[in-house]
Amino acid sequence: MAAGPPSLLAAATGSRFVVVGGGIAGVTCAERLATEFPSDDILLITASPVIKTVINFKQVSRALEEFDVEEQTSSVLERRYPNIKVIQSGVKRLKSDEHKVITEDDEEYTYERLCLCAGAKPKLITEGNPFVLGIRDTDSAAEFQKHLAKAKRIIIVGNGGIALELVYEIESCEVIWAIKDKAIGNTFFDAGAAEFLIPKLIAEKPEPPVACKRTKYTTAEAEKEEKGGAGPGQMGSALGPDWHEGLRLKGAKELFHKVHIESLCEVKKIYLPEEFRQSQKVASAFPKAQPDEGNVESDQERWPVYTELTNGKVYGCDFIVSATGVVPNVQPFLEGNNFALGQDGGLKVDEEMRTSLPDIYAAGDICTTTWEPSPVWQQMRLWTQARQMGWYAAKCMAANALGEPAEMDFSFELFAHVTKFFNYKVVLLGKYNGQGLGSDHELLLRCTKGQEYVKVVMQNGRMMGAVLIGETDLEETFENLILNQMDLSRYGEDLLDPNIDIEDYFD
Ligand code: FAD
Repeated sequence: MAAGPPSLLAAATGSRFVVVGGGIAGVTCAERLATEFPSDDILLITASPVIKTVINFKQVSRALEEFDVEEQTSSVLERRYPNIKVIQSGVKRLKSDEHKVITEDDEEYTYERLCLCAGAKPKLITEGNPFVLGIRDTDSAAEFQKHLAKAKRIIIVGNGGIALELVYEIESCEVIWAIKDKAIGNTFFDAGAAEFLIPKLIAEKPEPPVACKRTKYTTAEAEKEEKGGAGPGQMGSALGPDWHEGLRLKGAKELFHKVHIESLCEVKKIYLPEEFRQSQKVASAFPKAQPDEGNVESDQERWPVYTELTNGKVYGCDFIVSATGVVPNVQPFLEGNNFALGQDGGLKVDEEMRTSLPDIYAAGDICTTTWEPSPVWQQMRLWTQARQMGWYAAKCMAANALGEPAEMDFSFELFAHVTKFFNYKVVLLGKYNGQGLGSDHELLLRCTKGQEYVKVVMQNGRMMGAVLIGETDLEETFENLILNQMDLSRYGEDLLDPNIDIEDYFD
């Protein structure tokens, strides 16, 4: 509990600015408010015993940014920003008409302006089944790792970033990967990019890095152990870039890396062993080769749990990982408050990050943007957007408090994300998958097996998006071409000709 001695707590029961959530959105928001209003106390109320901060921030290009994420105790943040007071307790109720939040330990805090940054939680294929795990925070990742250490086979359900990283990272355990789409990773790629990546999925991997590269779980660990994690039913911050590095994702089987993909299917039913026996269904053995050759050998082994897929196949396994996306964590704030919610369940926010209720803002995974976006930006629940939104929400709160207009932040001009999949650098720009462009867009492709995959999305001669896999060095040029919407029709396919130094064209 970082609320401090009683005198401090009494001083902290009301503040002009209160932020809920110690993830990247909430912490960034609180930091910026603390800088803008040095003589005000900024209250940061969070359920988790540790908070996440951005360090080593690097603007790679105009729109692309890279940073490390560090989990810290709240005292580190309070030392850096003496006017931030961290309260470690979950908010259980919001009384928006009284401008008040009530925490789990029954303390009340008043606000003039509130920013809700409580993140999202995993959307599990089924709730309350001990054989179905979701991965969200450091605690759930550690729980997953513990189960994996004893596992010989697991089933991963889902086709987003978390599933992609898991199937690549897990060793010494058979992995059945069930995806509802035709191709892997369809949140990020098209089928061509998926084909490019598949050989890497089954190939031998380089030695894992000695130390965790970007996400650092350092100072917090000892204190966290003492405090026993985020507490029952409470949520820690979502993990972020390279969350799996530093975690040993190794199962109990003496084999290298074995993944079988079941596409175009979902989980139909999960059986415990006795239920499965009574169903008289037959479980399939792990298929012998990649890709699926329709091997239907039956499985003689007894498993703790069985999963029937909608394509009729049944596989036994040690447990199932549900990596099927997230739902915004709005529940604690809904009772008695008539928030407008987006289709995805997030708190709707306008172009100044305001929810539908007065003086309440929201940022990060919890919110759903409703402003008319730039033609090459879309919301995705990602680390980078959590930081940008936290920052921008604070800017808007400050401007509104001072009666000034808030100008839309540049980060919302162009969707730009850099990450790593299967050990390849992956850059996604604009409408990288032709999202919402209708049927009149075309694709330009360049692919060198095992090296790079470049896809450009064009519409009316303008570049609308790009997927760059590998060390292409094209991100800055393409970013500029997407932003300036130059008519590129006359360059035709030369745009991707590797013998032409494209930068020379446009400098
Ligand atoms: P969170 O980080 O979830 O923080 C929410 C905070 O609110 C936490 O501190 C929590 O304790 C607190 N809270 C919750 N409820 C309450 C309450 N009632 N009262 C008070 N406090 C509360 N993104 C990427 O860009 N790249 C990646 O490689 C990537 N990998 C990921 C891997 C995993 C396994 C997961 C789960 C997510 C990954 N993401 C990745 C997504 C990214 O982590 C999130 O988009 C980002 O962390 C969202 O930040 P946030 O601050 O909105 O929410």
